[in-house]
Amino acid sequence: MRALTWHGEQDVRVEDVPRPQIVNPNDAIVEITATAICGSDLHPYNDNIPGMREGDILGHEPMGEVVEVGEGVETLEAGDRVVVPFTISCGECWFCQRDLYSLCDNSNPNAEMAREVMGQSPAGLFGYSHLLGGYAGGQAEYLRVPYADVGPIKIESDLPDEQVLFLSDIFPTGYMAAENADIEDGDTVAVWGCGPVGQFTIQSAQMLGADRVIAIDRVPERLQMAREHGDAETIHFEEEDVYDTLMAMTGDRGPDACVDAVGTEAHGTGLAGVTDRAKQEVGLESDRPHVLREAITCCRKGGTLSVPGVYTGDVDGIPFGSLMNKALSVESGQTHVQRYLDPLLGKIEDGEIDPSFVVTHQEPLEKGPEMYQTFNDKDDGCIKVVLTP
Ligand code: NAD
Ligand code: ZN
Repeated sequence: MRALTWHGEQDVRVEDVPRPQIVNPNDAIVEITATAICGSDLHPYNDNIPGMREGDILGHEPMGEVVEVGEGVETLEAGDRVVVPFTISCGECWFCQRDLYSLCDNSNPNAEMAREVMGQSPAGLFGYSHLLGGYAGGQAEYLRVPYADVGPIKIESDLPDEQVLFLSDIFPTGYMAAENADIEDGDTVAVWGCGPVGQFTIQSAQMLGADRVIAIDRVPERLQMAREHGDAETIHFEEEDVYDTLMAMTGDRGPDACVDAVGTEAHGTGLAGVTDRAKQEVGLESDRPHVLREAITCCRKGGTLSVPGVYTGDVDGIPFGSLMNKALSVESGQTHVQRYLDPLLGKIEDGEIDPSFVVTHQEPLEKGPEMYQTFNDKDDGCIKVVLTP
């Protein structure tokens, strides 16, 4: 079959690889009809996460038709149309029982390696680092789906792929980021990053009752989408000082919740609101965690920091002292996707949201390498790419 594979920094290729087979009784094989590129794919693309291996198949936002199931699979059969969550979860461990699917104790075959790095092992993920399982991903013609009774959601309506595909990741991710912001009536939520995750965070914050959403980015098309689809006010971080503007917009109190929907690949100085004196006193040195630092500085006292943006390893230069003294709460994590599948499918079916608003590019899988470059560079108005094998 054809699949998009990783070969190092900004080197992905579409190649012939062996078709996946049923390995365990709870596996299903899905023939992929649509598969998106995610901001999380840009971490391996830019060689920014450890644990990638040459030839790994990327992709974790797929959907398609079940073509084969293992003998232990009870809820799916050949012919079912499914969206596959990016989190692989057993459904039975202590964590899955508590709906903490991205923390599943049983789905990471490289748990020992993860434990050495993180102390405990999170769940396995499709198409990502071997630290998180090294599972073959879904930017391919076929995908092996372990724990097939726990992950995939059946789509029984005739909604087109691009309306339900993002249940695999970015809609639940934006929704969980907004839930994690602990929004109360009248709240102002600031969202750094107007990529696909930011866009769904903005819309979810509105659904969850935010009074105002302020979205921050530098890409004009993304800021425009945040205004037009997300009803957000926007800040272009290269044209305005983010700290000063947020303070002016919130009567000097700061946003009630700040969401980092950017993660490790931030641009800019990230030093908004940080004076030379602060730099000396706090010893801000790293040029990496811009957005986290900015969000901590800008958040109102007693507010909440929600971090869907992905980080790996140690991140220096975080003003943890400010965080502690300002009594901020922090919530983060890979999304517990399975938790959100039914309720968010309901919102799509009810017409409350049409997630396809975010799609700007739809291309055959063979064009994957070109589309990675376009999405990475934010060229050609690119906000979300859907590939079709
Ligand atoms: P993306 O790369 O398309 O979007 C990131 C956006 O951040 C871009 O528009 C960029 O211009 C903007 N940005 C860069 N520097 C900024 C700054 N200093 N201030 C404000 N905005 C800035 O990616 P995406 O698909 O939207 O994903 C965003 C993040 O969410 C990534 O880190 C991704 O890995 C992560 N993610 C997490 C989960 C999860 O389960 N927690 C799931 C999916 C994606
Ligand atoms: Zn993703």
